[in-house]
Amino acid sequence: SREVRLASRPVGLPTAANFAVADVTLAAPGPGQVLVANRWMSVDPYMRGRMYDRESYVPPFQVGEVLQGGAVGEVIESNDPGFKAGDLVMSFFGWRTAFVAPAAALEKLPAVAGVPTQAFLGVMGMPGLTAWGGLLDVGQPKAGDTVFVSGAAGAVGSLVAQIAKIKGCTVVASAGTDAKCAWLKSLGIDHVINYKTCGNLLEAVKAAAPKGIDVYFDNVGGEHLEVAIECAKPFARLVECGMIGDYNATEPSPGPRNIIMVVGKSLKIQGFISTQFAGKRAEFAAEMAGWIAAGKIKWEETVFEGIDKAGDAFLGLFSGANTGKMLVKL
Ligand code: NDP
Repeated sequence: SREVRLASRPVGLPTAANFAVADVTLAAPGPGQVLVANRWMSVDPYMRGRMYDRESYVPPFQVGEVLQGGAVGEVIESNDPGFKAGDLVMSFFGWRTAFVAPAAALEKLPAVAGVPTQAFLGVMGMPGLTAWGGLLDVGQPKAGDTVFVSGAAGAVGSLVAQIAKIKGCTVVASAGTDAKCAWLKSLGIDHVINYKTCGNLLEAVKAAAPKGIDVYFDNVGGEHLEVAIECAKPFARLVECGMIGDYNATEPSPGPRNIIMVVGKSLKIQGFISTQFAGKRAEFAAEMAGWIAAGKIKWEETVFEGIDKAGDAFLGLFSGANTGKMLVKL
């Protein structure tokens, strides 16, 4: 088996030198254990947070150890009655081509019509749950509301934008390339802004939402958050899902300079972690599968081939190399 390890802790933007690929020999599966060959590995922005040596909601990665993350694989050999060769399973053992694990640590994947295996790392998986729970539970959008979403062509953002449309909202979306913006337009998103070329983000959002915004779904932080506060209507909800623009900062980033508006406009700023919605996974999966079957939700994926490309795929998250879910195919 081959695995990707954290070779050193990144300072600022990670580089290829922070990752090392190593060969390991796997023991045969013992009683109750299963040998799995991974087919798809998830590449996620939150993994950057685990590369710092600090306390957080998930423990830090250790230098020299394999990077953990979600993966979808196929059972090769099973010593547990619950699994048989050929079963597709979700696991959290990270960036490795194969592994041996106790059966209890694996989740058998259901067959869902129109949903390929790797979608359980995206639209039907953690990013989907994040978009669904974050927007609907935290953001509380109502029909007729204007929803602003940043990082809108990404795994989470593209689902937030489409779920907001399903709920009858007007959607303003921002992304970093014209091709991403064109894709969002093709999905029926009302107003799409290329934040890198629009010149003035505040003016662009004001033009798209002259009456202001009711919900902001934040994936990026920084200037976008300031603009959202500026454009927020009274009692607007600001959903803090992520701030990727700050993940590589070596100093604490300055807060929104207009934070004082939170008082006068009675704004609600609320963060969340997707695990908060773990108890609602069945409800999420049923609703999302229904939307997919009805053609109401579409998704994209960007695929890097081979475990040696996992580091490059991760770095690509910070340069906007992905449209939709970033994946590594093994
Ligand atoms: P994405 O698929 O959105 O990939 C990251 C994207 O972020 C890039 O494609 C790029 O697109 C954009 N980006 C990168 N750097 C910047 C920057 N400095 N400013 C603006 N945009 C930038 O990733 P995910 O959908 O997996 O995650 C989106 C966000 O949600 C992240 O912040 C992540 O941490 C967070 N998240 C939070 C969870 C939670 O439980 N709270 C769970 C899952 C994700 P572009 O070309 O448009 O710049």
